[in-house]
Amino acid sequence: MAISRILIANRGEIALRIHRAAHEMGIETVAVHSTADADAMHVRLADHAVCIGPPAAKDSYLNVAAIISAAEITQADAIHPGYGFLSENAKFAEIVEAHDLIWIGPKPEHIRTMGDKVEAKRTAGALGLPLVPGSDGAVESIEDAKKVAAEIGYPVLVKAASGGGGRGMKVVPDEEQLESLVSQAKSEARNAFGDDTVYLEKYLGNPRHIEFQVFGDGNGEAIHLGERDCSLQRRHQKVLEEATSPVISDTERDRMGGIVAKAMADMGYRGAGTIEFLWEDGEFYFIEMNTRLQVEHPVTEAITGVDLVREQIRIADGKPLSVKQDEIRFTGHAIECRINAEDPETFAPSPGLVTSYHAAGGMHVRVDSGLYAGYRIPPYYDSMIAKLIVYGRTREGCIMRLRRALEEMVIEGVKTSIPLHQKLLREPDFLSGDYSIKWLEEWLDRQKG
Ligand code: ADP
Repeated sequence: MAISRILIANRGEIALRIHRAAHEMGIETVAVHSTADADAMHVRLADHAVCIGPPAAKDSYLNVAAIISAAEITQADAIHPGYGFLSENAKFAEIVEAHDLIWIGPKPEHIRTMGDKVEAKRTAGALGLPLVPGSDGAVESIEDAKKVAAEIGYPVLVKAASGGGGRGMKVVPDEEQLESLVSQAKSEARNAFGDDTVYLEKYLGNPRHIEFQVFGDGNGEAIHLGERDCSLQRRHQKVLEEATSPVISDTERDRMGGIVAKAMADMGYRGAGTIEFLWEDGEFYFIEMNTRLQVEHPVTEAITGVDLVREQIRIADGKPLSVKQDEIRFTGHAIECRINAEDPETFAPSPGLVTSYHAAGGMHVRVDSGLYAGYRIPPYYDSMIAKLIVYGRTREGCIMRLRRALEEMVIEGVKTSIPLHQKLLREPDFLSGDYSIKWLEEWLDRQKG
């Protein structure tokens, strides 16, 4: 069955990204949108558009019945969920398939397994991925927790099985505080996720966040597309990502990439996925797998030349992977800056009217954004309004080009994080590639002090 019309169950830059890949394949698109997004670029460019509800995401972009009806009314034959919203909702994937629509995503059972952190860790371990030392599954009692913590050594981290966005997570410095912090983590998890299952992990002091992009055809073939370094984070939110990582050698990429690709092949994984690791002192430790396209996927596209959305659509359509592992070359360096509508110092959101807009251009400069002059950024959704992705033959060249591109970007009427990126790109620690997941927050504290 050939896909001929894709409904894009998302908004903003990622909806545009999917629209572009689809049109380059000769496939029509259907945009869905809330009443707040009637004038959005993804709605303007799509071949068909359906309003699916009021501004609140739960009534529109998370409204399963409205999205399925929109697909039926417009005779779409496939649904791409983008990232966020319904992208990692196994039930939604099943509903899509039950309506004889093609789900452009992983098998629902894999989305479900990887969505539960305890299950994900067990699965990753069984597939041969290196884990953070910790409890074997959930901790059942405080005695159990004490025993595990003594074995792995303090500090330890209590994590919620259903966790996300860093909630239900507590660092425990010593045994004295274990009992109270475990019960705090449990009650936080119960309130946030309705599930108070927790597990223990060794707390790594100063790791980097390094993730591998993988792709499977669902029939036992899988490849990796190298790593991305996403260590620059604020409150667990990525701010800037780069590929390749300044600390991973070609040999190490091949070795670890080989391990993750084999794991995905053994699992029978279908579509795009990201395996996230913490990395410290030369060792990788699996933390979670994301069963979707990531915000930062363009840096991988820049250094491999593989269009990841096109690949997702092909695989959903039953075609084989378009590249074999030995055809993939990692060339040059790419960096992505996430540009948010927010105050660059206080991080307070800054929605509103964009009075003028000019996107950077030139060689190896890519801007993924739905912005235009006269667009009103709605206050209801994520504050990311653009991604600036720059490629260079070397990391140094890439940074110089990125600085030049940031000078050219004009977004007026709202505050943006552009000045933050400009400052970051002049920091000696960033220039030397010497930063961990703690670095950005410590740097921000120093800027204030
Ligand atoms: P979530 O789904 O809540 O984002 P993750 O497991 O991805 O949870 O962890 C979020 C962040 O917490 C990581 O990016 C890292 O910064 C930190 N973290 C997670 N596990 C550990 C660990 N064992 N040691 C130190 N930091 C950790």
